[in-house]
Amino acid sequence: MNSNLKERANATIDAQRDALINISTTIHANPEIAFQEFKASALLCDTLERSGFAVTRGVGGLETAFRAEAYGNGDGPTVALLAEYDALPELGHACGHNIMGTAAIGAALAAKSVLAELPGRVVVIGTPAEEGGGGKVILVENGIFNDVDVAMIVHPSGRTIVVRGSLASTRLFLEFSGRASHAAAAPEDGINALEAVILTFNNVNGLRLHLRPDARVHGIITHGGTAANIIPDYAAAQFSVRAAKQGYAQQVLRRVIQCAEAGAAATGATVKFSTNPSYAELIPNMTLAQAFTENWESVGVRVDEPRLQERGGSTDMGNVSHVVPAIHPYIKIAPDGVGGHTIEFREAAISPLGHEGLIYAVKGMAMTAIDLLGNPELMTRVKDEFTETVQKQRVERLGKFE
Ligand SMILES: [Zn+2]
Repeated sequence: MNSNLKERANATIDAQRDALINISTTIHANPEIAFQEFKASALLCDTLERSGFAVTRGVGGLETAFRAEAYGNGDGPTVALLAEYDALPELGHACGHNIMGTAAIGAALAAKSVLAELPGRVVVIGTPAEEGGGGKVILVENGIFNDVDVAMIVHPSGRTIVVRGSLASTRLFLEFSGRASHAAAAPEDGINALEAVILTFNNVNGLRLHLRPDARVHGIITHGGTAANIIPDYAAAQFSVRAAKQGYAQQVLRRVIQCAEAGAAATGATVKFSTNPSYAELIPNMTLAQAFTENWESVGVRVDEPRLQERGGSTDMGNVSHVVPAIHPYIKIAPDGVGGHTIEFREAAISPLGHEGLIYAVKGMAMTAIDLLGNPELMTRVKDEFTETVQKQRVERLGKFE
């Protein structure tokens, strides 16, 4: 039964191809950064509403988040398709989130076209501010995933990979305050806030030698003074602190804060710090990944072999994967070697290969949603694996860090 439904869903997707590409390129042409994605979320909500979804805008305390629901023919699981649609400051859609937002709604529309023959519910969750703002962390905390059984999202990439983890990550914001003075006539009266920032970077470099290989600490100076002849009374920096697991990432974060405090102590400046919501590491559900891979291969997608040591960044999908079974596959939209957050990748996100990747992302999620709704045995196995993996992780954390 499912294969017939999948064929019909894929036919719907092929028929809507131009409309979907149009949505993707429209979002790409109107880049909006974290929490400012008003046009993109409105476009996605309007499209879902026109197709009969019940749409709630501004959910979970976030103005640009949304939830859209469509029901099948009876009680059953809730399958969530997640949309991202935020751009990067200055670079625009250099992470290809225009494809991610469009893919989620495309898959939902296709699943809805056969939903009268399936139990359960398809939900699209619009998740703002993946680039640093932690939209999904906030939505998880505010209960938006409480009634969700399983969640999927597809990210564009230079390669096609179904299973890849991500690093736990926290953004650290540092502000140093000192005292201004004339840099030539009265340097002894000044307290140099910039010098405290420079010492912080040097301290972090000293710390780096003693970190485990999976840790990543990288920063920028966001304010370094106003003129060379004034001792800076204010300076600011931003670090990203990451590791394979949350527990160690938090330990490293505490050490980086000590580096900043030491820089402040040495110069006489004071330091204040704040963080964004921490991103957890992604725990991919292997049962779900297997079903997804089979679906992709059935429509001709070639999944790349995983590399010995896959590297990657961080995503707030990690936090979702700690509360419901989840996957975060990658679809090729750019030549191998072209990484995200570059101008080349931004162009790829609206290239013919980008459009092809979009359609594959839509089909992969639509077909897997049909599997999850139409095959209770699969859903049970997905949930069993989740219970076991998450419990295992919790035991590991308790053993090591508490
Ligand atoms: Zn991204």
